[in-house]
Amino acid sequence: MQNAILKVDHVKTYFPVSTSIFAKKQYLKAVNDVSFEVGEHETFGLVGESGCGKSTLGRTIVRIYDPTEGKVFYKGQDIGRLKGDELKKFRKEVQMIFQDPYASLNARMTVGEIIREPMDIHHLYGSKQEREERVSQLLETVGLKPDHIRRYPHEFSGGQRQRISIARTLALDPKFIVCDEPISALDVSIQAQIINLLEKIQDEMNISYLFIAHDLGAVKHISQRIGAMYLGSLVEIGESEELYRNPLHPYTKALLSAIPIPDPQVMRKRAALDLDGEIPSPLNVPTGCAFRTRCPKAMPVCAEVKPELQTVGTSQVACHLYAK
Ligand code: SF4
Repeated sequence: MQNAILKVDHVKTYFPVSTSIFAKKQYLKAVNDVSFEVGEHETFGLVGESGCGKSTLGRTIVRIYDPTEGKVFYKGQDIGRLKGDELKKFRKEVQMIFQDPYASLNARMTVGEIIREPMDIHHLYGSKQEREERVSQLLETVGLKPDHIRRYPHEFSGGQRQRISIARTLALDPKFIVCDEPISALDVSIQAQIINLLEKIQDEMNISYLFIAHDLGAVKHISQRIGAMYLGSLVEIGESEELYRNPLHPYTKALLSAIPIPDPQVMRKRAALDLDGEIPSPLNVPTGCAFRTRCPKAMPVCAEVKPELQTVGTSQVACHLYAK
C-alpha cells in the first residue's frame, strides 16, 4: 500500500502466566503474528468474538503494550524506537476511544475540564482562554450544547458520554484513532448516530480509523476493508463489500451468517452456520489451524499445518480449503 499511515508487521503480543512457582512459564498469546496496513483516511474494521485479541492489538498499536515480537510503523517510523519530541508527537496524533465512555471519563471533572485536559498537558494553544474556545468548538463538532461545558459526566446519557469522550480525543487533533468497540455499550438507536458522527469527523479532519467491534453490521457500514480475527490471528482480510457478499473463511462465514440482511438473495447464498463451542484458551492454541476445533470443514491437514494468509480474488484468507 502506497499511502499507508499505519503498518503492523508480524506483531505478537504475549503475556507470561505462572500457574505455580514450579510450573513451566506459559504465555497467553493474545496477538499471534498479525500483519496489515491502514491507508490515509481509511477505516479498517477488525471483527471477531470476545477474547480474540482485538483490543490487545489496538492497545499495542497505541503503545499501551509493547509487542513481544514484530513492529508497528506509524508514518513509516517504528513506534518502538520513538523518544522525546517524536514520541510526544505520536502520543498526540494517535489516540484511542474506549468502549465504556463512563469509565474513561473522570467523574469529578466538568465536561469542559475533561475536554481541555489533554490540551493543557500538551501545552496546546497560547492561553487558557484559547483552549476554552477550542473546547466550545469541539462540543459543537460532536453535537453537544455550549451549556454542557459546566456539567458532570453522570448528568449525561451513554450516547452523550461517548460524544464527550470523542471530543476529548479530538482535542489533540489526531490523525489516527483506534476505536475500541465505541458503540457496543450503547442502545441500537444511538449506535448509528455515533457511527455517523465518526464518519463526519473523519471527513472534516482527515483521520484514519482502526474500528474494532463484534457488531459486523456497524463495521461494514464504516469500513473500507475488514479483517476477521480468531484467537490472536487474522484469518481473512477483504474489501468490506466483497467480504460481506462472498466470505471465504469458515469463521468469517459463521460470523456473517448470524447477521440478518434485508436481501433474500444474499441470505439464500449465506447458509446459516452456527459457531459451536467456546473459543479455545489463548494459553493452549490448537496446533495447525487454530479454528479446526470448531470448523465444520476441518481436514486432517488442518491439525498439522498452520495455514498462512494467501490471496484469493481480492481477499486474503488463511485456510487449507483454498490451497493452490
Ligand atoms: Fe477449517 Fe481447515 Fe480451513 Fe481451518 S484450515 S478453517 S480447520 S478448513
